[in-house]
Amino acid sequence: MSRLPEPKVNWYLPAIFTGLGITMKKMLWNLGNRSKMQTLNYPEEKYDYSPRFKGTHILTVKKDGSLRCTACMLCATNCPADCITIIASEHPDPTVEKYPISYEIDMLRCVFCGFCEEACPVDAIRMGPEWQVAGKNGSNFIYGIQDLAYRPQLKGGIQTILDDGERSKAGI
Ligand code: SF4
Ligand code: SF4
Repeated sequence: MSRLPEPKVNWYLPAIFTGLGITMKKMLWNLGNRSKMQTLNYPEEKYDYSPRFKGTHILTVKKDGSLRCTACMLCATNCPADCITIIASEHPDPTVEKYPISYEIDMLRCVFCGFCEEACPVDAIRMGPEWQVAGKNGSNFIYGIQDLAYRPQLKGGIQTILDDGERSKAGI
């Protein structure tokens, strides 16, 4: 009766030491060539994205500081992630058809595609340059009107370019 062959023994130590050697070599090279390093020391250093970058949303405001949004729902209808929720109401001004009493975006569901921005007929929503979205729990990522239009970084709000043809003075 023939015996089964002995199982082959694989030694992983050479591969482990080779990997450690490569890591040490790269680390020492990086320490001596910090200006050529491929990584940034975040958060002290931040990457400058292109002006076309689509980051956190901004609801623009009119000259009087009120929301530009007319609650037409086109952005919510076009959103592929179904993450925009708008509650519309009649405006006290009879010349304005309606406006949003609540406008919320679930930032955890958003895929930052920009469809909402493109769907809006009145330049009421834009994708801004901010990309740091942080929070301690899920509710921190539901952005309402105060976050979207009047968060401190917007310094009072970003004026729409449609008001009297003025260019936006966006400065976050
Ligand atoms: S960027 Fe895209 S996914 Fe995010 S709210 Fe706008 S349409 Fe929806
Ligand atoms: S942001 Fe623009 S598309 Fe969305 S509801 Fe307001 S006006 Fe309509």
